Amino acid sequence: MSQFLDERYSALAAYVPGEQPQDKKYIKLNTNESPFPPSQAVLEAVNESQVELLRLYPDPDGRVLTKKLADYYGVEENQVFLANGSDDILNFAFMAYGANGRKSYFADITYGFYSVFANLHLSDYTEIPLKDDFTIDVDKFCGVDGIVFIANPNAPTGIALTISEVEQIVSSNPASVVVIDEAYVDFGAQSAVSLVNKYSNLLVVQTYSKSRSMAGARLGFAIGSKEIINDLHKLRYSTNPYNINRLTLVAGEKTIDTQSYYDDNCQKIIDARCYTKAELEKLGFRVLESQANFLFAESDEIDGGELYLRLKESGILVRHFTSERIKNFNRITIGTQEQMEILVKTIKQILEAN
Ligand code: PMP
Repeated sequence: MSQFLDERYSALAAYVPGEQPQDKKYIKLNTNESPFPPSQAVLEAVNESQVELLRLYPDPDGRVLTKKLADYYGVEENQVFLANGSDDILNFAFMAYGANGRKSYFADITYGFYSVFANLHLSDYTEIPLKDDFTIDVDKFCGVDGIVFIANPNAPTGIALTISEVEQIVSSNPASVVVIDEAYVDFGAQSAVSLVNKYSNLLVVQTYSKSRSMAGARLGFAIGSKEIINDLHKLRYSTNPYNINRLTLVAGEKTIDTQSYYDDNCQKIIDARCYTKAELEKLGFRVLESQANFLFAESDEIDGGELYLRLKESGILVRHFTSERIKNFNRITIGTQEQMEILVKTIKQILEAN
């Protein structure tokens, strides 16, 4: 740290992304990416003539993509907001509604970036503990006095709330914005997009990074009331109006045109998740009920940190978190069926050698 850094940032604990090692080729089951490439239409659209156009700025309003998303989700164009990954949107939401001593609420075990943004923006935040079974304590999120962030399905547990539980939280907080972070919703949970015209305090955030195979392109979007979307535009135009590059916009448009390819991929992931959960349970693991593209699992036979290391030595990366409540678990991204068979076989060998 330099002596020049503003005092308010010096104590900041920055977000630590999952490893992206370059040393050897791993089976990467640690950052919830898709094992499938973007659709053929996307591959063809990001072509030489699009690269030539990089000399020009992108459309700061991403109008073509906004219209496609609005049509796909059955909302107005002024209810859609685009950003550089959904992290970008979460950052704006904290800035707009939870900064400088205003209150924010999220679970104690959830996406690690919420507390980082909360600290960055000097939010007065409260972490509401998950129940003993790792489900969200819905009642405790009702009638609070500040912005609420809920990942649905939650990460790293994979457990989803029903749409009526989400509605209970949104309807009980009419004076506060409720952000439903649906990064993993396409793998089996119910989206709250259907509620946005009923509740003007609801903001639904989604990403192209998981089900849409575009983590490397950085594209996220949010759907909400036009007033909230306007607030977010104000902050975006006050920081970086060109936050989405041209190639990403084109890829994002073609993705929607080929949605059935992505729906098929989600089904493959769901099938591989069912297979992996059943196999891990046969090996004695406790596996939480996941509606996401990952499983959260622990075993009495091997310590979570130890299993993470043994898997890494065997060329498989999973995600291990060190916080007290979950340190015996590993979060395992669902890859292809073939990758999951290798994972199961490797875990069997590790347990036998243990
Ligand atoms: N929300 C949740 C719950 C996530 O797990 C992630 C991925 N790390 C994100 C948001 C951010 O995803 P991205 O910025 O790639 O859209």
